[in-house]
Amino acid sequence: MKEFNLNNLIRDNIKNIKPYSSARDEYKDMSLDMVFMDANENPFQTDVNRYPDPQQTKVKERLAEVKGVSTSQILLGNGSDEVLDLLFRAFCEPKDDNVIILPPTYGMYSVLADLNAIDIISVELDTNFEPKVSEILSAQNSNSKILFLCSPNNPTANSFNRNKVVELINGFNGIVVIDEAYIDFSNQESWLIGLNEFPNLIVTQTLSKAYGLAGIRLGICYASEFIISILNKIKPPYNINQLTQDKALIRLNSLNEVSQQISSILKEREVLGSKICNISFIETTYPSDANFILAKVDNANLRYNQLIKKGIVVRNRTTQPLCGNCLRFTVGTKGENEKLIMALKELN
Ligand SMILES: *Cc1c(COP(=O)(O)O)cnc(C)c1O
Repeated sequence: MKEFNLNNLIRDNIKNIKPYSSARDEYKDMSLDMVFMDANENPFQTDVNRYPDPQQTKVKERLAEVKGVSTSQILLGNGSDEVLDLLFRAFCEPKDDNVIILPPTYGMYSVLADLNAIDIISVELDTNFEPKVSEILSAQNSNSKILFLCSPNNPTANSFNRNKVVELINGFNGIVVIDEAYIDFSNQESWLIGLNEFPNLIVTQTLSKAYGLAGIRLGICYASEFIISILNKIKPPYNINQLTQDKALIRLNSLNEVSQQISSILKEREVLGSKICNISFIETTYPSDANFILAKVDNANLRYNQLIKKGIVVRNRTTQPLCGNCLRFTVGTKGENEKLIMALKELN
């Protein structure tokens, strides 16, 4: 196990913070038949007249069971975006610290860095969309607090080589966040297995993609008990609303349906991939470990606009590094994918 002093990475104001203590932190047991006169709620039933559980115990217990981790290794956020923002606030001192990102990648890392006044060190992926390990490790300095690895990566759709990821976790002096928003579409194992081995590892997942719940906003952070305890001090008290907790729990108890949908999306991904590579103006389709396919076309702006006219919206990634003239196609239903193929065939 790596020698690592996490305490040195946490911002001083966060180390010393005294968290807000909500009514439901001070009296937790909602199962008893008590009269609740502590939170200034409206006493009349609306289904949601009571504040939600600030620790989302039921959702975490179910997730812990499904993922094989302990509930104390889980923090839930209002989407992964809130989780990522909490990480900036816990570890990165505005105007002093920096984070390392590997473009082309998910846009929120740099947006959140800007929002928190944190410098960004960018080290582009290589032409196989893999991390350049030695360049990344030599780009870090004593103010580098977080390295973001998105695997499978958005928008390139590949998972990173596991030996490279291990070298990065071992060689980086700060926190390594592996964003696994698309892990359920990958045949690679989740990095959750590394949580007990690497004290500086954080894994994030979400119910927005494979679980089909983008609308409820539920992001998940898995880390050591120590890191989770720090994040718990700074999260907004009632950040996961009751409706979200209820809906998430129902879904986490319907995993057969979730896996059937994932299988169907994976099958459709293969069909779509094999058909779009026959389209004359599509030059390359990249292998996908996610629920989308990145493809290089002759003229991304032209094809994007032509598809809009045919009623199909895809993502134009042409301005991203290494993604010149690339479009990103989310895998839809069988019918939607057929519509896309028909439309592409009609373009010239
Ligand atoms: C879609 C996506 C997310 C999900 O964000 P939520 O806020 O949980 O909806 C996270 N990371 C990446 C790379 C994504 O593409």
